[in-house]
Amino acid sequence: MSKDDSRAPQGNGSRVTHGGRHPSAQHGFVNTPVYRGSTVLFPTLEKLLSYDQRYTYGRNTTPTTDALCEAINEIEGADFTVLATSGLHAVSTAILSFAEAGDEILMTDSVYFPTRRFCDQVLTRMGVRTVYYDPLIGAKIADLLTDKTRLIFTESPGSQSFEMQDIPAIAAVARERGIWVLMDNTWATPLFFRAFEHGVDVSIQSATKYIVGHADALLGSIAANARAAPHVKRTSIALGNAAGSEETFLGLRGMRTLDVRLERHQRSGLEIARWLRDRPEVAEVLHPGLPGAPGHDIWSRDFLGATGLFSIVLDPVAREGLAAMLDHMRYFGMGYSWGGYESLIVPFDCSSYRTATVWKREGPALRLHIGLEDVADLKADLVAGFERMAAAVA
Ligand SMILES: *Cc1c(COP(=O)(O)O)cnc(C)c1O
Repeated sequence: MSKDDSRAPQGNGSRVTHGGRHPSAQHGFVNTPVYRGSTVLFPTLEKLLSYDQRYTYGRNTTPTTDALCEAINEIEGADFTVLATSGLHAVSTAILSFAEAGDEILMTDSVYFPTRRFCDQVLTRMGVRTVYYDPLIGAKIADLLTDKTRLIFTESPGSQSFEMQDIPAIAAVARERGIWVLMDNTWATPLFFRAFEHGVDVSIQSATKYIVGHADALLGSIAANARAAPHVKRTSIALGNAAGSEETFLGLRGMRTLDVRLERHQRSGLEIARWLRDRPEVAEVLHPGLPGAPGHDIWSRDFLGATGLFSIVLDPVAREGLAAMLDHMRYFGMGYSWGGYESLIVPFDCSSYRTATVWKREGPALRLHIGLEDVADLKADLVAGFERMAAAVA
């Protein structure tokens, strides 16, 4: 058959450029087109009644969604992938694939805030109890397990605060007790963290971030191992998940350059993180790829790279100082989400919502996304910002 079916080992660059592509199935055109559609026709009554054909209804699968799912399977090393309309939709669908009334789920206290909101607002109503745990708990998670624990949800590094979780230790405990391990693997992407090789059953991506990569679409993916796949598939179909065809195409387009973009995000991110550590305004740099930073040991042991997102904590400064810096940045935009080609900066404060751990820092914290601009320009932008900050509070 086609070259895509070769099982020889591949590098990431080859995987992302060739995964899910079948030019011979579309007249030789390199890219899978956008299939828009709801109705799929069946040629005979027999086939209609037995659903005996590859495509049956637009909500289920199309050649466009198949192409992206196949590519994600390949880079994740998963048995099954389904798309969702957003990263958060992927998270909620993944949790609902396993949680039942009366269950407890263990949720890292450093989780992406809207995931926490889903648990507190929706799961609670369904009789599922969420128990938050310290992201640094490691194998001690065993102490929190009860006979009601259905799943452990992980995210490493943690959103905003960048705690690195000991995923293999947590997964070992879970496996022994027959508990599912879910991971939000958006930060590292499957290229920089091989979730399934570290014991995870379900790996979730906000594809909105690096897979789409251009801040022009919302998309999520849920990748599962063989054991978890039937649960995810059944639930996703039952919930009516249907990622948009245009968004899926943008995910495919982004996928082709994922490897080369991440290389640049990584290099520039590390260079700026290292440089920020020596700035007098900066009290702390939270970047697990940086030697000496919190979580660097786990990152070095388990991860294959770092992407462009990290946080810093500044020395205490008045609000006017921070505003003077952030209101006039040339390259760093202020806004939510990340993973596009552009640099972003947003202040954050985890202390208001944490329940299992205490986040306490004296100065303001900023999350930076290092985009594809030139490092020298980004440093100059930050220096000018620090100067405005100093002038405003002088
Ligand atoms: C952004 C994000 C999500 C949600 O993705 P959306 O596509 O915006 O819904 C989930 N998890 C993490 C870690 C994220 O950063």
